[in-house]
Amino acid sequence: MTADIEHTPTLPSWLCRNCAGQWPCRTAKLQLLATLTPTQLTLHGWSYLEDAAQDLPALNLAAALARFVTWPEHADDLQPGPE
Ligand SMILES: [Zn+2]
Repeated sequence: MTADIEHTPTLPSWLCRNCAGQWPCRTAKLQLLATLTPTQLTLHGWSYLEDAAQDLPALNLAAALARFVTWPEHADDLQPGPE
């Protein structure tokens, strides 16, 4: 685990800089949950969605909504663990 590299998106691919998964990855989500209020999460999520839609023209809207905006509603599914 490389803790010194933040789980931030590489643009324009929107893959995690650290674990190379689709961003936000599980670790990124946990970090976002720890630092933002629910309202901020939603606002940031819409902002990410707009940016990702520019970078990824083939992005499926329903999938993108779940990926960037509505995932905190299912945050209870996120289990901390090794990545
Ligand atoms: Zn990651």
